[in-house]
Amino acid sequence: MLQLMWFRTDLRITDNSALAAAMQAGPTAAVFLLSPRQWQLHDDAPCKVDFWLRNLAELSRELQRLNVPLLVREADDWNAAPQVIGNLAQELGASAVHVNDEYGVNESRRDQAVAAALEALDTGFHGHFDRLLFKPGSVLTRTGTYFKVYSQFRGVCYQRLHTALPALQALPGAQSALQIAADPVPQQVPGFDSPGQALRDAWPAGEQAARERLQRFADEWIEDYHDNRDFPIRPGTSQLSAYLAAGVLSPRQCLHAALNANAGEFESGSQGAVTWINELIWREFYSHILVGYPRVSMGRAFRPETEALPWRNAGKDLQAWQEGRTGIPIIDAAMRQMLATGWMHNRLRMVVAMYLTKNLLIDWREGERFFMRHLIDGDLAANNGGWQWSASTGTDSVPYFRIFNPISQSQRFDPQGRFIRQWLPELAALGDKAIHDPHAGSKGQGSLFGAGVNYPAPIVDLRASRQRALEAFKNLPSAS
Ligand code: FAD
Repeated sequence: MLQLMWFRTDLRITDNSALAAAMQAGPTAAVFLLSPRQWQLHDDAPCKVDFWLRNLAELSRELQRLNVPLLVREADDWNAAPQVIGNLAQELGASAVHVNDEYGVNESRRDQAVAAALEALDTGFHGHFDRLLFKPGSVLTRTGTYFKVYSQFRGVCYQRLHTALPALQALPGAQSALQIAADPVPQQVPGFDSPGQALRDAWPAGEQAARERLQRFADEWIEDYHDNRDFPIRPGTSQLSAYLAAGVLSPRQCLHAALNANAGEFESGSQGAVTWINELIWREFYSHILVGYPRVSMGRAFRPETEALPWRNAGKDLQAWQEGRTGIPIIDAAMRQMLATGWMHNRLRMVVAMYLTKNLLIDWREGERFFMRHLIDGDLAANNGGWQWSASTGTDSVPYFRIFNPISQSQRFDPQGRFIRQWLPELAALGDKAIHDPHAGSKGQGSLFGAGVNYPAPIVDLRASRQRALEAFKNLPSAS
């Protein structure tokens, strides 16, 4: 009997649990749903939607090699998914639909509704575990609750990895050709503008491109990852997040590549490989938090008492931050990097997030939304986790009194200002010292720029705004 593989954020044929299971169960056709209204509701960035479509086109070609036709259907939002998938299953005479599990609240509700609709049609619905290394609910405290502290969560993950390494799925062999024609994959979806060619070139689509990037990282960079990863000008991190978020690459593939580069060791050998595996475990941690504490997926703070913070309604400051016009070069350079490339270095994500939520005292949800609308790797769990960590509203967050000073961060992690010069060419002529804080000593008069350079004075005083944030947190009922 025909099986239907429904692709979502798992756009690959290699090491794909649901695809392997479907093809083992019988002849298989595949489908992808275009859901522009839903994507808008989720603030999915145009560059991310473009990345999905480009990867989908590559996936369709890969599937053709397996004689699996990829159909493309529209379900404007996920309320329509049960009917669209149900109709298609009936039209094809499919006996079962296979998916890889996704963990957001809306994703889970969608899948429950689709499963119920299919049951009424006497069609099976099989969810497979694929997106993570450990199934949510399988890494718990002794009392059976979800971990709230990363280091403890990681400890249990390592114990598990020592006893059983998640195995890679074998690539399915080609099936006999079906009498079902594949659909063309659209190059664009209304409501989502195409990004420029430069951005597309920076993020080539397809499994092969992803695997090459992983291999290059494992061969050339992973060893020095620990030393390089905090310096935004160095090519020190893998830049694989967009591929992991769209499922063009699996975390198992990443783990195996890291272990291969480190003689099979998790906790010894190259410090770089160990630190990188820890980052993969951060990705796990935040996905488990999403399932264990679903309020974070509904726009709520992990620590409820922080809902009482007196966030400022400061539209102009928010806009200056969004547009890279705060007058703090490292912040502005980072924001411009994201606007131009769809990606921002992790150190800078923390710095700009802390500046928004502490120095500007603007609600982390504003930052979370803006990031989602611009990131090619936007991922609900990691983004929410990163924002709530930076805002000190989340699980295992930075303590509220440890506020990064963006200028010290800039001096430390971009000592010669090379990253700043790349994204703020208007400051390129400044010396290595002045570039971190161009208005220092000028009392915001801009006198430094008599030579015609136009760069704004800082929109807030860092010391006074830090004090304001400390007071706001101290005044919370249980934070002092
Ligand atoms: P590498 O350093 O090479 O790490 C390897 C992989 O591990 C990454 O690709 C990613 O999948 C995972 N990873 C690394 N760091 C983290 C982390 N702190 N939390 C969760 N996973 C991690 N990551 C996203 O994938 N999507 C997001 O929307 C996102 N938003 C963020 C927002 C904020 C405010 C912060 C502070 C962090 C956010 N991160 C997000 C985490 C991190 O910044 C990115 O994963 C990382 O910069 C991606 O670059 P890379 O692939 O070179 O990472």
